[in-house]
Amino acid sequence: MQERRWLLEGVERPDADALDVYRRNGGYDGAWRAFDEIDPAAVIDEVEAAGLRGHGGAWRPVAARWRAAGALGGVRALLVDVSESESGRFRDRKLAERLPHRLIEGALIAAHALTADDVYLCVRADWRRARSVLGHAMDEARAAGWIDRALGRSGHAVRLHLHPVPGPLPARGTDQLLPHLIECSRPEPRASNGTNDLPTLFGAPVLVHTAATLAFLPAILARGSGAFRELGSADFPGTVAISVSGHIRRPGLFEVEIGSGSFGELIDTLAGGVVDETDLLAVFPGGAPALDGDALKSLQIDPGVWSQPGGGEHEGSFGCGTIVVADDAVTPLDLAARWLDHAAQLGCGQCPVCREGSVWLIQHLQRLREGGVTAIDPSALQERLEILAHGEGEGLAICGHPTVAAHVTQGLLQIAPEHVDSQASAGATPIDDDAPLRTADSIHLRF
Ligand code: SF4
Repeated sequence: MQERRWLLEGVERPDADALDVYRRNGGYDGAWRAFDEIDPAAVIDEVEAAGLRGHGGAWRPVAARWRAAGALGGVRALLVDVSESESGRFRDRKLAERLPHRLIEGALIAAHALTADDVYLCVRADWRRARSVLGHAMDEARAAGWIDRALGRSGHAVRLHLHPVPGPLPARGTDQLLPHLIECSRPEPRASNGTNDLPTLFGAPVLVHTAATLAFLPAILARGSGAFRELGSADFPGTVAISVSGHIRRPGLFEVEIGSGSFGELIDTLAGGVVDETDLLAVFPGGAPALDGDALKSLQIDPGVWSQPGGGEHEGSFGCGTIVVADDAVTPLDLAARWLDHAAQLGCGQCPVCREGSVWLIQHLQRLREGGVTAIDPSALQERLEILAHGEGEGLAICGHPTVAAHVTQGLLQIAPEHVDSQASAGATPIDDDAPLRTADSIHLRF
């Protein structure tokens, strides 16, 4: 398996974040074409021909979303989500830190195609480096005249804002959450208004895109949709950047062609294999549920083979391109407890099923870990997990945050049920909470 870079092209160049380095290597050529050579409708045609989909987890076709927004009267603003909160995901943060101009260029191209008046780059407030680099890159782009060339619906230049947002945020519902955050700074997802699927900002319709999705646009416009189409599959063309962390020798971001290999190949070749040659216990694929190591080995890095979003045979969600690898130095029960604890901290507390359900599950798993009960009550546990998993669909939760937590826990408990039972009945020693399951904030990345 080899890397194939579109999104991360040039990421290892010295001073990759500088405008002159970016320009020398073809940066803003896509924007030039979009602004000066073709009209906004032709930009949408090009994106449609490329088959670009959103890389935030839902994998919706980008051009179809833009056309649907146009049919509803258009959008006033474009919100760029640079706030990734899922455990183990660090793709968009690295993009902001290393390739800020690609992110800005992509956002300007999208705003121009949508004739949006404002672009908000919503960056986690605690990512000081990302905010600083993006802010400097915005100054460079403004001084060079690039921002003024993208025109909104009023015929005036697009206004580009850098907007810090608190974080980490609930893992789902950012389409409704980010506009709410800009309006009143409260990190609480809102329910969809039900009349259409466009969220609103100060009463005006907006679109929310993940940073990585927009960062594909410069290369697609510059190299042409045909070159992008040559990669990947018919339904899911192009490449995907995977954040790999956990018990792995070479953690980092790896961009590969969609469908060019399996997660097992990615782990064993590009990421160097599991640390200390211990056994692979579980993998969290960013969506849900968690997988055991053997199930993962042959699974293709292709959203099309998963039931979500591709309707494929493998049950579960491909997610946004994140995997956290766990070896057998930890147990499924410990991992589930940690994961739930993290998820509970991200919940905003509006919905009882999310707030109370998470606490109940954490307490239940904690008692199991400490040997406080001698066996799992499978029916009670599964019942709670099912309620959490279907909370959003049944109107019990505003967003899908508890669904992710439930699916991850269900997957972990299925990986090795005998392991779970033995830990519970043996009154196993509680894990040392300081024992590191390495995450994106504690590992050395390649760039
Ligand atoms: S489901 Fe959880 S995170 Fe989502 S709105 Fe309700 S309480 Fe907040």
